[in-house]
Amino acid sequence: MSDGAQTQTPSDTELLELAREAAAHAYAPYSSFPVGAALLTIDGQVVKGCNVENASFGLTVCAERNAAGRMCAEHDPGNTDGRGIVGVAVVGLKASPCFPCGACRQVLHEFGCQYVVVEEDGGPKRYGFDQILPHGFGPDDL
Ligand SMILES: [Zn+2]
Repeated sequence: MSDGAQTQTPSDTELLELAREAAAHAYAPYSSFPVGAALLTIDGQVVKGCNVENASFGLTVCAERNAAGRMCAEHDPGNTDGRGIVGVAVVGLKASPCFPCGACRQVLHEFGCQYVVVEEDGGPKRYGFDQILPHGFGPDDL
């Protein structure tokens, strides 16, 4: 789902649509709550993820964390500056707006995420990361 041919920065509306596409891939047989995320990386790539549930509920992984893991797995290891997140769009097909959970906010913060786009009133709404994770603990705090 990563688009290595990305040539221009997607708009918030486009990023939301990519997150919606990702949600269609969700494995959510227990909650029936499909979620998709689309990360915009600092080197201009878009990486999508969906939630993947498990019969052992605690092993369920959210769309945002799956996308972050995918970003790391697909990242060129020779480009240490490219592994970072500018922003993320999140779409829950059964909830609008759908914000990242606390665990995902922490993981997104790890990679420098600056904003979150959710769907509100039928359109994109951008929140600064300091609004959704004030006083977050991150790499600079160690
Ligand atoms: Zn989450």
